Amino acid sequence: MTDIATLTADLAAPDRPTVLDEQGKREVRRACLSGVCIPGYQVPFGSREMPVARGWGSGGLQVTVAIGAESDTVKVIDQGDEEGVNAVNLRRLIRGTLGCGATADTREATIVQSRHRVPEDRMRDHQTLVLQVPVSEPLRPIEKDVTETRRMHAEADYARLWVALYEDLVTGGVINAASGYPVLVEDRYVMAPSPIPRWDVPRLNDAEHLTLLSHGRDKKLYAVPPHTKVIPVTFDDVPFEVEYADGSACILCGSDDTYLVQTSTGDWLCSDVEWCSRVRDNDVDAEDHQLLAPLQWLPDPTKRVRAIDSLTQQADDDLAPAARARTAPGEEWAVKVEHLGKTFEARRGSTRVRAVDDVSFDIAPGEALGIIGESGSGKSTVLRCLIGEETTDEGRVLLADVDEGSTNVLGLSAADRRALRISTLAVVHQDPAAGLDLRISAGGNIADRLTAGGWRSYHAIRRRAAQLLERVEVPLSRMDDVVGQFSGGMRQRVQIAKALAGDPQVLLLDEPTTGLDASVAAGVLDLLRELLAERELAVAVVSHDFAVISALTDRAIVMRQGRVIEQGLTDQLFADPHHPYTQRLVAAAGR
Ligand code: ADP
Ligand code: MG
Repeated sequence: MTDIATLTADLAAPDRPTVLDEQGKREVRRACLSGVCIPGYQVPFGSREMPVARGWGSGGLQVTVAIGAESDTVKVIDQGDEEGVNAVNLRRLIRGTLGCGATADTREATIVQSRHRVPEDRMRDHQTLVLQVPVSEPLRPIEKDVTETRRMHAEADYARLWVALYEDLVTGGVINAASGYPVLVEDRYVMAPSPIPRWDVPRLNDAEHLTLLSHGRDKKLYAVPPHTKVIPVTFDDVPFEVEYADGSACILCGSDDTYLVQTSTGDWLCSDVEWCSRVRDNDVDAEDHQLLAPLQWLPDPTKRVRAIDSLTQQADDDLAPAARARTAPGEEWAVKVEHLGKTFEARRGSTRVRAVDDVSFDIAPGEALGIIGESGSGKSTVLRCLIGEETTDEGRVLLADVDEGSTNVLGLSAADRRALRISTLAVVHQDPAAGLDLRISAGGNIADRLTAGGWRSYHAIRRRAAQLLERVEVPLSRMDDVVGQFSGGMRQRVQIAKALAGDPQVLLLDEPTTGLDASVAAGVLDLLRELLAERELAVAVVSHDFAVISALTDRAIVMRQGRVIEQGLTDQLFADPHHPYTQRLVAAAGR
């Protein structure tokens, strides 16, 4: 590969090098326009090979070269300094390509290309800030799957980002995210504003200038147009903090309202070298700079949270759930399933399976329905169809909570069906790992459900999580422990607490005790029995085990090969089963 020095040396030649052809420029410009139209949204673009090494700012270079012209004056900085190797070479490349002017003075620049800083000077409405972005996806630390992060952005489903902040607070008392702090743009898209320090993050809010952020390798760019709302992601009751050491000031210019970096000898220096020299020359608008400095976000230890505090504090939040329709008007049921049908088509090596065939039932608030059958009889498929994890071929599912029971929820979008699972239709899976994130704390798992439901108070979340964990008899001393360290029974209890966190109307239990040792299973079964008795939930309990069904339910349906072959009151089915298949199930439970 040509090294950058050779390349930039060529720039003196009368023919300007073409780092981006006209078509490429047009494509980047189009992407910039889309970005401006949808602030914070990651716009893909057809990236070109740039004559700079990866990590040298090819994303920013493409934007600058695409939007710049001969009449522009460009300032290029790296780490707040124009003299770094990277800055010098990028500047030479941009100048050589555009034939434009260059400056160190932010006030004279029409385009500022930067990576680590927003200049200390206030940028104005005729200026554009181009940020070279090393990480384009703020959700990457919490989700590696690109399809999933795309879905999260599309649905504004950022609950897990708040959970990550919650976990930070629980472990450290402060939010650890250092640079590229996640922000919410225009109350819609979460964005990572490059590795600028937290100091610069509030300065993007309602700015006069246009900011374009671009990532060459990911081939994505996004924009913050002038006067756009850019708010750091945090809880309502946990203040965002910028970097600041008490009493620190630049040893060269004396500034104490700029972003300072510490030298190896412990002294503080302005990171914006140009600003610092102009302060010494008395050539700055110090008053305006004071207004722009994020002084309202200086660290305040008295406002920090300690995990324990919120649990001992007096609760001032209203934890009572909103009143909602418990049954459809004129009806008894909270959930009604009609003629559900599901066929798994034959694939290589398998035959076509009619997993669910004409299954109908309804459940009233406060009632528990058992769904019993041998393994493979279609029980789990019924539940999966209900919650939307499986598509359905025939039938209707009505929920009292959705349009008073008049809408077939099977026809709703995938996003709407996911939303239902937060506050209307909760599931406890046989395998706790299916319902929990084992890498985060017990409290964090409950915070996941609460933040998804719109909770934004850290203290309220902790109190609610503590209440729920206490109710399922998980010791509070373990609230902040990672669930992966819990025993199977304890995990199942956390999963139950999480399912109840959104105050659902319908609770689906899929073999809730099947994976547990007998004595542990008995404890969880007792807990479930109490919980069902104290709540007005409509519950479906799926099990192959008649002992579980008879412990928890009033009524039951018996499934065999996808069909309901017998139904009735659980006690009666148990005492007097008619179908030979049911008799076998009863006999198995009696053993
Ligand atoms: P249960 O929960 O009662 O044990 P399931 O609902 O899991 O039964 O399965 C019912 C039938 O559907 C079984 O024959 C099973 O093999 C089949 N089945 C379940 N899921 C799939 C799938 N994703 N693809 C193909 N067949 C499936
Ligand atoms: Mg099953």
